[in-house]
Amino acid sequence: MTDIALVTGGTRGIGAAIARALHADGLEVASVYHGDDGAAERFRQDTGIPVFKWDVADPDACRDGVARVEERLGPVSVLVNNAGITRDGAFHKMSWQHWREVLATNLDSMFAMTRVIIDGMRERRFGRIINISSINGQKGQVGQVNYSAAKAGVIGFTKALAQENAARGITVNAVCPGYVDTEMVAAVREDVRAAIIADIPVGRLGEPDEIADAISWLASPKAAFCTGAVLTINGGQYIANG
Ligand code: NDP
Repeated sequence: MTDIALVTGGTRGIGAAIARALHADGLEVASVYHGDDGAAERFRQDTGIPVFKWDVADPDACRDGVARVEERLGPVSVLVNNAGITRDGAFHKMSWQHWREVLATNLDSMFAMTRVIIDGMRERRFGRIINISSINGQKGQVGQVNYSAAKAGVIGFTKALAQENAARGITVNAVCPGYVDTEMVAAVREDVRAAIIADIPVGRLGEPDEIADAISWLASPKAAFCTGAVLTINGGQYIANG
């Protein structure tokens, strides 16, 4: 039976690369997005991968959305919790709204998505859950107290869930990308971006495919002994500046 993968935020940036990689591996893939219909439609036309629109921070929307995916494709055996946003600013100026938006999309989504899918994985005694954290969840980042807190939460979520489900054939891992060339990083001010690149020992941003290839391995049967891991992929930035 073909494995079914669901990738949140799977129509742009790193998520789109992950969806393409899993599709190339022979999985059936569903990509979830939230607002950018144009990007989603272009992605669907380019790849043939079906797209589904809902807010991963909303537990009811996740329940309905996953039901639609499973009705169309079958039970999800690979879940990639990738959707994320930033709302940067110094903490002493940060609004409750910017705190909540970032925590909701980056961390509440881990509960909302995984809680819907875990029962089926436990019943079938197989699953791959891959959660996208960030180098800034590992080391903290000025101007990103909300994002750093959410992404550190993703790591704790991953480690605890991995222990609860290891005996059921479900692996749960976190991937912490460093700075990757996507629209999220393009939105960063030019001088800040140059300073970031200067801090990366390999001297460049990462490419989305360089993250996606790691997810491809984690999602495969070859990675059955890897669970509760935090995989750091950042061009050496964390060891040099963490
Ligand atoms: P992008 O901004 O390029 O793409 C984000 C994707 O997430 C889009 O498909 C977007 O949908 C979707 N999305 C956002 N909010 C929601 C929501 N509430 N519900 C459903 N889908 C949503 O992000 P990146 O590819 O740069 O980042 C992907 C992940 O990697 C994120 O978790 C990010 O935090 C993490 N990361 C990124 C790094 C980087 O350097 N780029 C570094 C470290 C971690 P739509 O198109 O509709 O907006």
